Amino acid sequence: MKIGVIGAGAGGLHLGLFLQKHGVETMLFSERTPDEIRSSRLPNTAIHWHNVVSHDRELGVDHWEGGQVCNYFWVGGGGLPEPLVFQGNFKAKSQIVDNRMYCATLLEDYIKRGGAVSYGHIQADDLTGLSEKHDLVVISSGRGSLTELFPRVPEYSLTKPQRLLCTGIYRGITNREPEGLGINFLIGTGEFYEMPYLTFDGKHTALFIFIVPGGSWEVLMGNRYDDDPKKFNATVLGLITEHFPHIRERIRETEFGLRSNLDILQGSITPTVRRAYAQLPNGKYVIAIGDLHAVNDPLTGQGVGCATNGAFVVGQAILDDGLAFDERFCKRVEEQMWSWTGDATAWNNYMLQVPPAPNTVDLILAAAKNQTLADAFADNFAAPTKNWNVMATLERSRNLLHMLGMGSPMIDAALTSKAGTA
Ligand SMILES: Cc1cc2nc3c(=O)[nH]c(=O)nc-3n(C[C@H](O)[C@H](O)[C@H](O)COP(=O)(O)OP(=O)(O)OC[C@H]3O[C@@H](n4cnc5c(N)ncnc54)[C@H](O)[C@@H]3O)c2cc1C
Repeated sequence: MKIGVIGAGAGGLHLGLFLQKHGVETMLFSERTPDEIRSSRLPNTAIHWHNVVSHDRELGVDHWEGGQVCNYFWVGGGGLPEPLVFQGNFKAKSQIVDNRMYCATLLEDYIKRGGAVSYGHIQADDLTGLSEKHDLVVISSGRGSLTELFPRVPEYSLTKPQRLLCTGIYRGITNREPEGLGINFLIGTGEFYEMPYLTFDGKHTALFIFIVPGGSWEVLMGNRYDDDPKKFNATVLGLITEHFPHIRERIRETEFGLRSNLDILQGSITPTVRRAYAQLPNGKYVIAIGDLHAVNDPLTGQGVGCATNGAFVVGQAILDDGLAFDERFCKRVEEQMWSWTGDATAWNNYMLQVPPAPNTVDLILAAAKNQTLADAFADNFAAPTKNWNVMATLERSRNLLHMLGMGSPMIDAALTSKAGTA
C-alpha cells in the first residue's frame, strides 16, 4: 500500500508521521524544503492546545519544553461597569511555537526516519496522475490551494469574514508568569490576544488583533508595516495604551516593535466548510483534511486541532480498512472527522457573534466568579465538543449555570422574550 500526502503543514505532517510510525509507505509532497519553510513569511501565530501537543507526543515530535498553563481572560466594554478579569487553568500545557520552526522540524523528523518527500507545487491537473501511482491521495494543502475540487457546504459556511486579522511577533514585552495566553475581549470592538511566542531567537510575544469590521480598530488594517514601520508600531502601542493598561505596564517602550518585516500577517478568513472528499475523472477518490476541509476564523484556535484530528482519523482508517479507498471509505472518514471539526466550527462561529449571544455573556460572567467553570472553559479550548455541549442552546447553558448555583439573567431574558413572541 502506498499513500500520497500533499502539503507539509500540521495536517500533512501529522498524517505522514502517523503512517510512517505504522509502517505504511508514504510519499509526502511539500512545496518547500525545511530551510525554505524557516525563511518564509509568518503563516499564522497558532497556539497548539494540549490535544495537539498530545498528538505530537504520540508521534515522538514533542521537541519543545515549557508551554502555557492557563488562559488569562480580560473582558471589557459592552456596558460592563468594570472589566472582568479571571484566569482559567489547563489540565495540561499548550504550546506556542513558531509554525515555521514547527513544520520545518517535523518535516526533518519525517525525513530522518526514512520518509520520502517530493518537493514542488502540486496543481489540480497533477492529481489524476498521482492517484494512479498511489492507493490513496490525501490533501492537506491549507486554505488557499486545490480548494476548487471540494464543493463548499453552504449550511456550515459563512459568506464573509467576521473579523479582520492582524497578527505579528513583537519585541519589548515581558511575558506573564506563569506563562499563559492573554485573551482580551473588548466587546463590540474586537479581541486582543497576547501570546508568549517561541521563535528562532528565543521567546518573544505575538500580539494577535481580531478586528470587528467597521469598528474603531479597523485603522490598523490600512496601516501596513512595510509602508511605515514606526507608524505601525506606534499605532499598536497606542491601541494597547488606550485599552489594555495591564499589558502596557509590561512593555519596554524603547524596545517595543515588530521583530522583523516577515513576522506580520494581515488579512481575513471567510469560515468555510467543504466536502472532505472528491472523485477524480479516473474514478479514484481524494480526501481533504485540515483547512482544506474546514477553515475557521482563528478566534478560538481550532484549526490545528481539526487538522491533526483529521490526520489521525484518516491514518487510523487506512490502518483499519485498506480494502478499498472507495466512496464508502471516504464517507466514513468524513463523518468521523466531522464529529470533531463540526463542533469546533459551530463553537468557533458562535463565539464570533457580535454582540455576543446571551449564553456567552452569562457563562463569562459566571466564569469570572467560579473557578471550576473558568478552568473548564479554558481547558476545553482543547476539547471544543465540551464547550459546544454547554453552549449549543440557551437551555444547555442555563442548566449548567443552575447546577453550579449561578444565575442566568441574559439567558432568562432571551428565553422569556422568545416565549413572548412564540
Ligand atoms: C493568523 C492565524 C492564526 C491562527 N491561530 C491558530 C491557533 O491559535 N490555533 C490553531 O489551532 N489554529 C490557528 N490557525 C489555523 C491554523 O494555522 C490552520 O488551521 C492549520 O495550519 C491548518 O493546517 P493544514 O495542514 O490544514 O494547512 P497549512 O498549515 O496551511 O499547511 C498547508 C501546507 O500545504 C502546502 N501546500 C499548499 N498548496 C500546496 C500544493 N498545491 N502543493 C504542495 N504543497 C502545498 C503549504 O505550503 C503548507 O505547507 C491560525 C491561522 C491563522 C491564519
